[in-house]
Amino acid sequence: MPLLPVPVPLSCPECGGRLQLIPSSPESYHCALAHEYSAHELDAALQQQIHLSLQHVIRQLQEQQTLIARRQPLGLYTPPVDSPLQLAQQILATLSRDVTAPPDGL
Ligand SMILES: [Zn+2]
Repeated sequence: MPLLPVPVPLSCPECGGRLQLIPSSPESYHCALAHEYSAHELDAALQQQIHLSLQHVIRQLQEQQTLIARRQPLGLYTPPVDSPLQLAQQILATLSRDVTAPPDGL
């Protein structure tokens, strides 16, 4: 009897669907749309997505700082609960965590 694919808490880089581990090939994953990745390919895809996401976040933080700098002298700026600096610090704290440790909640 063939082993069934095992759902894992990972998303497909192409479609965002939940990935499943292929039991006959424990370093291979696929999604419901049949996108397939080796562990190495999945890691590379995740690194590329993280890089692009961080570039996007950095650009958004810079744009928010620009907007704040324009509004603050006019007295039109009310600081949000999480300022851009606090968000950036949260990102840095996340990046500096031990990446070999399992994520919270697992
Ligand atoms: Zn997919």
